[in-house]
Amino acid sequence: MQELSHFIDGAHVPGTSGRFADVFNPATGEVQAKVPLASKAEVDAAIERAAVAQPAWGATNPQRRARVMMEFVRLINRDMDKLAEALSREHGKTIPDAKGDVQRGLEVIEFCIGAPHLLKGDFTDSAGPGIDMYSMKQPLGVVSGITPFNFPAMIPLWKMGPALSCGNAFILKPSERDPSVPLMLAELLKEAGLPDGILQVINGDKEAVDAILENETVQAVGFVGSTPIAQYIYSKGCANGKRVQCFGGAKNHMIIMPDADMDQAADALVGAGFGAAGERCMAISVAVPVGDETADRLIEKLIPRIEKLKVGPYTAGDDVDYGPVVTAAAKANIHRLVETGIAQGAELVVDGRNFNLQGYEDGFFVGAHLFDRVTKDMDIYRQEIFGPVLSTVRAQSYEEAIGLAMDHEYGNGTAIFTRDGDTARDFASRINIGMVGINVPIPVPLAYHTFGGWKKSGFGDLNQHGPDAFKFYTRTKTVTARWPSGIKEGGEFNFKQMD
Ligand code: NAD
Repeated sequence: MQELSHFIDGAHVPGTSGRFADVFNPATGEVQAKVPLASKAEVDAAIERAAVAQPAWGATNPQRRARVMMEFVRLINRDMDKLAEALSREHGKTIPDAKGDVQRGLEVIEFCIGAPHLLKGDFTDSAGPGIDMYSMKQPLGVVSGITPFNFPAMIPLWKMGPALSCGNAFILKPSERDPSVPLMLAELLKEAGLPDGILQVINGDKEAVDAILENETVQAVGFVGSTPIAQYIYSKGCANGKRVQCFGGAKNHMIIMPDADMDQAADALVGAGFGAAGERCMAISVAVPVGDETADRLIEKLIPRIEKLKVGPYTAGDDVDYGPVVTAAAKANIHRLVETGIAQGAELVVDGRNFNLQGYEDGFFVGAHLFDRVTKDMDIYRQEIFGPVLSTVRAQSYEEAIGLAMDHEYGNGTAIFTRDGDTARDFASRINIGMVGINVPIPVPLAYHTFGGWKKSGFGDLNQHGPDAFKFYTRTKTVTARWPSGIKEGGEFNFKQMD
């Protein structure tokens, strides 16, 4: 049995706590590795070492730091196939989808190559007589990221790229479900020239997370995961005086207007609802057709598309649509929620409950499900299912449809499918959700914009990646400098206005 490690001071370090978690191959259900779960003492020691290494990295000029990112980009591209295979083996997603996971992270590293520009401060010449005023964006010191299982390359890259480019040392606590890719990324960063101790990858569970939150050296915490844990980390991190941003769960609605191209909408829904087995925070899990006629036409188009989805292991080739979910517990939870949907009166029009894949009976595969006539009070509508289950809520008007999305507690992403520009503009302007697609089902912003949900999908003031990440991982110092000819005039004791 393979025993994974931490990555500390530029080297793989075995765990010493004696505690381990199983890392599964979700396609077969087998335990393929054990990952060490760090103790508080191990976390504290890694943070201390990072704090020793950070000042020299922070003082390295930003262009040299950016060159490390440039080389990192080259190395990720070189190892793309290896990274994707390791990712699929632990997560279960298909190889093309795993490459997308790496690619969307890689694009943020590409953006970070422009860090010298983003780190430039402001300057006011002659703010007063002989006085200049300028601001500097300085690294915070030691910062951290705590990441979820569903994007084991993309989200660690979203966090580490900006944090390191800004001159911080970074503590990454990846998900214990699929820790291999973050460890491989740490090796690549070392090969790219990152000094030892600047990126510490600590595997672990709640104990390691609490150690990070309690450690006074850690200045900032960036979290992505489920909402209850996001709320816990946000409140505890803030109470401990840290800068914190936490991104949580989702329930993304797609509104289908009567004038939408129904084939396009159905194709979009199938990809966005079932891709990655629905284990995406930007997955569409609720379809809201407007009017019964639209709903009937949509359901008629969805059923054959969903029934012919190919579910299989990542090893079965590129024509597999989605793979297994991450654990047996996740599978059981999805099945439990499907049963509550039936019990609470929703109509299960595509029933994936008896899905079975020959030769992979112990894998965590879940068949595709489509519900019709879901209502607001049902558990399958209120809760995040994070599986291949699409719920249809019929709305009788545009106002009712937009109201559903606005009243839901989550506010990560949403989409509208229509041919009418006026409706689309109204929707984009009024909706209280962070990321909006117009005839685009998964509106994940590109690296040079920012990513973040509203309501219970996001806690904190700034978004992830793009310019916001550079604000999150730096602090501003403003300097007022005077080089007067007459300093010998003596001290000034009044609080002076600039004249
Ligand atoms: P999770 O909340 O279970 O775990 C996320 C991280 O928190 C992991 O590193 C885990 O080790 C740690 N953790 C788990 N329990 C903890 C506890 N009690 N105390 C402290 N730390 C704890 O989430 P997950 O299952 O890995 O990921 C799926 C969730 O992430 C979904 O809800 C999904 O919507 C969300 N997600 C959100 C975004 C976004 O940007 N909003 C992106 C991806 C995933």
